[in-house]
Amino acid sequence: MTDTTRGNALSLLGLGDMGTALARTWLAAGHRLTVWNRTAAKAGSLADQGAAVAATPAEAVAASGLVVVCLLDDPSVGSALDGIDLTGKDLVNLTTGTPAEGRARAAWAQERGARFVDGGIMATPTMIGAPQAGGYVFYSGSRALFDTHRAVLEVPAGARFVGEDPGHAALHDVALLSAMYGMFAGISHAYALIDGEDVSPKDLAPLLSEWLGAMGFFVGNAAERLASGDFTTGVVSNLAMQVASSGTLLRTAAEQGVSAELISPYLELMRRRLDADPAAHGAEDTAGAITLLGRR
Ligand code: NDP
Repeated sequence: MTDTTRGNALSLLGLGDMGTALARTWLAAGHRLTVWNRTAAKAGSLADQGAAVAATPAEAVAASGLVVVCLLDDPSVGSALDGIDLTGKDLVNLTTGTPAEGRARAAWAQERGARFVDGGIMATPTMIGAPQAGGYVFYSGSRALFDTHRAVLEVPAGARFVGEDPGHAALHDVALLSAMYGMFAGISHAYALIDGEDVSPKDLAPLLSEWLGAMGFFVGNAAERLASGDFTTGVVSNLAMQVASSGTLLRTAAEQGVSAELISPYLELMRRRLDADPAAHGAEDTAGAITLLGRR
């Protein structure tokens, strides 16, 4: 039966910042919610809003067919659900983990008779229940579970199913977060360079945003080159030139008294790609350097 009506029952284990935000949206949408948290006091305000409060994880699991878990990390999921009967349950794990943890947790759940979907939340708690904020959750694992509960899962944030491999929600989550931290590193370096100069961070900010937006073409460009294996056709900023000019970036950092620790690893990677075969790789753009990172 498709679970699309208001008032469906679900249980939520974990009332940290994220779990509490999730809980509020399900209560506001009229769902019958049972909650459990290790520190029971955090359930108080949700009880006032209509949540049933379970005294133990086992009681919370027993209360609903759909069980959502949003705890700190994978070991906390294992300890909270240890020894609990999951037969016939639909378990959705919104705890951040690695792909391998997602796959192992799926096998663990299946051994205990549960269907399983892993999730990777691409949102902060303030983006939960706020569709205009653009947050969403990656899901992977049992397609049947996802289809059954899709309407309920879409209450807090958009839902994107990325395949039946239970590791793929985490893989997508971590890929996007890793790209984000690379971008944060570059932005941090840029602000450090102007520190102490008569250039305000507030003046640099719109220029940085505009430039990063323009350089966003690299996302699709690199994907096409990785798919085709063609790293040279149509290149307008070749690797030999970029490696030569990277010295300017390092000397500028030194002149400004700024550590190059956040940008030098990427510049080094470009140099390694060039040095491996200058005649062949010098005409590439930087996408070819990605091949040095992987398992291939
Ligand atoms: P919090 O630190 O606010 O809450 C952690 C939760 O895990 C609490 O409910 C805590 O219980 C519980 N917990 C920790 N250890 C154990 C344990 N050993 N046994 C049982 N319960 C335990 O984290 P968030 O709510 O912010 O995050 C929850 C998950 O959501 C994490 O995996 C996080 O990576 C993910 N997430 C969070 C985002 C955010 O911006 N906050 C964004 C995207 C994902 P207690 O209250 O008793 O300490």
